[in-house]
Amino acid sequence: MTVLINMNSKEDAVQKPRHPEKQNRPDSPILRKPSWIRVKAPTSSGFNKTRKLVKEKGLVTVCEEAACPNIGECWEKSHATFMILGDTCTRACSFCNVKTGLPGAVDHDEPARVADAVKQMELAHVVITSVDRDDLADGGAQHFEDVIFAIRKASPHTTIEILTPDFLRKDGALDQVIDAKADVFNHNLETVPRLYLSIRPGARYYHSLRLLDRVKQRDPNQFTKSGLMVGLGETKEEIMQVMDDMRSADVDFLTIGQYLQPTRKHAAVERFVTPEEFKAYETIARAKGFLMVSATPLTRSSYHADSDFEKLRAARAAG
Ligand code: SF4
Repeated sequence: MTVLINMNSKEDAVQKPRHPEKQNRPDSPILRKPSWIRVKAPTSSGFNKTRKLVKEKGLVTVCEEAACPNIGECWEKSHATFMILGDTCTRACSFCNVKTGLPGAVDHDEPARVADAVKQMELAHVVITSVDRDDLADGGAQHFEDVIFAIRKASPHTTIEILTPDFLRKDGALDQVIDAKADVFNHNLETVPRLYLSIRPGARYYHSLRLLDRVKQRDPNQFTKSGLMVGLGETKEEIMQVMDDMRSADVDFLTIGQYLQPTRKHAAVERFVTPEEFKAYETIARAKGFLMVSATPLTRSSYHADSDFEKLRAARAAG
């Protein structure tokens, strides 16, 4: 799985490495965060309530697995992003904090538990993501469909956003997930094509771009969304080229956030992009025709996804 989320963790203290494939990589020192990257401590009663529910239902969240910096703020408001198909990913992206390894069997009770949690939390909008499941013949497409259908049944008024893997070499899987008709189909390009080999080695830039295009071709009503991390060594011109590529695929919503290095074994932060530069990216992206843009240091795929979805809908209606 590839998610636009990271933060420092205590991996080195854990006996069994979370990222065995990265143990032989050289250490990259973790840069001190600038003043504009400040997050709320996860201590509120709302946070504890969300944590209790997630545990009770036996669910996995990307908020925890990716050590998302926004967890204090989001969970206080009951906004959790559920990660289906287990906590172990078959890919080993150099930016991602999700565990790598051979995942277990698909949990066929999970769709019902996710749907129960969504209902209990009275979510107006939910984001569902997953690990990459290259080990499954359909890449997990059937499970995505099952989860979407279970949520629709339990909470018909909840809008659903999915953040999917790339279903590389899984014939028919993408179409199956599109046909399950989530409201928002998100797939992150994550970085510029030049950096794919080092940052997202198991993925292919043009495959991911074609995926976004395919969603729009097959179901023009679904909103499409994609995200980029910055601070990995990309240039401004490369980011603008990716924006153009996304617009060619008719992507509606662009997210851009600062990459944060989870451990010394992960890809290094090359630089911290300033809030002013993020603002400039937002202005450029809006001029290029995206319906919705979120570009701030702490922007993540699912950050403020509920209120942003309302804005996205309003922007389409106004257009
Ligand atoms: S930004 Fe997304 S992943 Fe991070 S805590 Fe919020 S909902 Fe979870």
